[in-house]
Amino acid sequence: MNVIMEKCKRCLVCIGVCPVQAISDKDGKVSIDKSVCLECGCCASSCPNKAIEY
Ligand code: SF4
Ligand code: SF4
Repeated sequence: MNVIMEKCKRCLVCIGVCPVQAISDKDGKVSIDKSVCLECGCCASSCPNKAIEY
């Protein structure tokens, strides 16, 4: 399971790397749709702020 934490700076890098567009930025918050996520880990390894716990 992936969790985007408070230290997210909304740089949106993770949105670009997700192969299934599971990450969205809405209402000022980046979040992962767990029903779509494949748990590939790409977002966590791409986050420059280490804001995604994988
Ligand atoms: S783990 Fe993979 S599929 Fe899930 S949100 Fe991150 S990049 Fe997307
Ligand atoms: S890459 Fe990290 S800091 Fe950037 S929007 Fe995604 S979770 Fe937030």
